[in-house]
Amino acid sequence: MSSLRFKVVEEAFDRKAVPVEIPAERPETYYAKAVFNRKKMYEYLPKATYNALITAIEDKQPISRSLADSVAEGMKRWAVDNGARHYTHWFHPLTDGTAEKHDAFIDHDGKGGVVEEFSGKLLVQQEPDASSFPNGGIRNTFEARGYSAWDISSPAFILDGTLCIPTIFISYTGESLDYKTPLLRALNAVDRSATEVARLFDPEVKHVKSFLGWEQEYFLVDEALFSARPDLMLTGRTLMGHESAKNQQLEDHYFGAIPSRVEAFMLDLEIEAHRLGIPVKTRHNEVAPNQFELAPIYEETNLANDHNLLVMTLMAEVARRHNFRVLLHEKPFSGINGSGKHNNWSLGTDKGDMLFAPGKTAMDNLRFLTFTVNVMAAVHRHNALLKASIMSATNSHRLGANEAPPAIISIFLGTQLSHVLDQIENATPEQLATLSAKESKELGLAQIPELMLDNTDRNRTSPFAFTGNRFEFRAVGSSANCACSMIALNAAVADQLTSFHKDVKARMDAGASLKDALLEEIRILVKQSKAIHFDGNGYSDEWKEEAARRGLDCETSAPKIFDAYLAPSSVEMFERTGVFSKVELEARNEVKWEMYTKKVQIEARVLGDLAINHIIPVATRYQSLLVDNVVKLKDLFPGVKGAKVVAHDLDTIEKISEHMDIIKTETDRMIEARKAANRIEDEREKAIAYHDTVIPPMEIIRYHIDKLELMVDNEMWPLPKYRELLFIR
Ligand code: ADP
Ligand code: MG
Repeated sequence: MSSLRFKVVEEAFDRKAVPVEIPAERPETYYAKAVFNRKKMYEYLPKATYNALITAIEDKQPISRSLADSVAEGMKRWAVDNGARHYTHWFHPLTDGTAEKHDAFIDHDGKGGVVEEFSGKLLVQQEPDASSFPNGGIRNTFEARGYSAWDISSPAFILDGTLCIPTIFISYTGESLDYKTPLLRALNAVDRSATEVARLFDPEVKHVKSFLGWEQEYFLVDEALFSARPDLMLTGRTLMGHESAKNQQLEDHYFGAIPSRVEAFMLDLEIEAHRLGIPVKTRHNEVAPNQFELAPIYEETNLANDHNLLVMTLMAEVARRHNFRVLLHEKPFSGINGSGKHNNWSLGTDKGDMLFAPGKTAMDNLRFLTFTVNVMAAVHRHNALLKASIMSATNSHRLGANEAPPAIISIFLGTQLSHVLDQIENATPEQLATLSAKESKELGLAQIPELMLDNTDRNRTSPFAFTGNRFEFRAVGSSANCACSMIALNAAVADQLTSFHKDVKARMDAGASLKDALLEEIRILVKQSKAIHFDGNGYSDEWKEEAARRGLDCETSAPKIFDAYLAPSSVEMFERTGVFSKVELEARNEVKWEMYTKKVQIEARVLGDLAINHIIPVATRYQSLLVDNVVKLKDLFPGVKGAKVVAHDLDTIEKISEHMDIIKTETDRMIEARKAANRIEDEREKAIAYHDTVIPPMEIIRYHIDKLELMVDNEMWPLPKYRELLFIR
């Protein structure tokens, strides 16, 4: 019998490797062509409008209605010149991805025709009918409507013939309903507090910027195979599938030659990204088969995050042109590496100094230590919150497995920096005073630059690592909106820097020199936050025990991890920095729990359907073939001989029955657990019920289906197998 699966596999494997067509045009000619950046503003806006807008962007000031009208007119002209017919406010709701509602520029001209128009009012503010975006009850409690408002710090762009205006999305009572609003607030908070501290070293600093360089990992799967896997289509991951005999053991995929079909996709994607002013730069094969990575040159965090969201959209679009589907899920395949999105993060002044980079003088290095140690302190105090910021139903499959950092946040510093901090910690106050007087030489401060050059001992098992001039938050999930981690991190560091500044000032008021005050405060922080520093193997079981002894958060259940957002230390920190009110935090957690439940619920339904409609019938059919065979063989060989001949088949028949029996029983148990969980009103309790009672039977069902996959006739198996899904030709 020829199965549908074989037809699908044939189709997928029939795709010839396409030669990669390299366009003649160089990136300079099309880079940022689809972006209303300063160059286009200068060209399309009246001089006075241009100047006023740039001033408003740089000083983070609101713009007047008349200025908005003038900008809108120029922006529309540019958009129309570039083929756009529609415009949209582009925002980041609390679901995955981005949201947009398109309107044409057209309006009645009063003579039976139309004109294309766009006013400042439409540019600056809109009221999308957004009642179905998740809001955690905010709009029910407060105001029925939300509105979106232009984020002037992020340039408008044209995507598929639509002018997209990056916006924030808030309720009429001012609560944020998106990711961008709190991100901007956190970036302002860190600007304020880090500027204060940076001015201790250089009074001319006006602003501190936060930078983000993301590394996006993803899988590609042939579209035909994807379409034959209902689990991939509906949940983004495979809910069943036995490991392929070869997967990533040889690690021959990592940094290996990129298949030409994939290279053609990558080039196409890069060109699209460059047209949108996204500076993507690095691409390579990742560890798992069919897994790849894309990374841009880092940018200011708000823009970098817009760009990451856009790239995720582009990936999905471009992949389809190449008969691929892109999988952004953190763990599409069991048994092989999942996908993350490292967030490389740093702070730098408006004068161009990077604050986590060692410098040439002892004072530069004291600044470097000041900022680095404050990050340590913030990550220590808020380690549970930072873990909550990267947690989701999908990322929970990746963390804690033997490939990604465990569900414990710690910081890797490397031997050199650790050594310097040890010396500071162990010096007596007298030593510290004399050391700082002697240009801190003995502390190794002057030598830091040379030491840091050798930044080779990177530890891939750390969820948060210092990497020479930045920190790399590696626990972020591949499908996540980076804003989530960037909000928590920037806000926590902002709050820490404010209190550091206050403490240093108090010491100076009491007569201490700046250097002494800094060193003493640095020492206090090093001592206080020691527990977060771990350079060892984060995958080991010993670390889990050690981390618990150190008092780090070791919770592994995603719904309970979200509780960290509502811990008093988090609420107070967010309120002090002006990033979230308590009401917002409560509402957002409702959404987090609800999203968690929905994701697991969908997976449980899909798994139930597949188990009962796809797997059980096929296993039954195969089993009855065997039964037939046994009957015939016994006919042929009666007596003792017959019993011997059919022994293996009988054994298989029995085993199939056992597996099917467990699958059916566990599916019933899973359905009952779902029903019971659905009756729970409280979102948190419901999510916990899904975690504790729905997921365990799902895992058992999968285990037994995967066993059947190895027993049932290959030709009868209904779903493309891992070996087919995972090796692009
Ligand atoms: P690796 O895989 O070795 O970590 P990649 O080159 O893949 O390195 O990615 C590193 C990312 O870090 C890039 O996006 C890069 O632009 C970014 N990056 C480099 N320096 C900084 C910095 N000071 N602040 C933020 N991001 C940075
Ligand atoms: Mg990296």
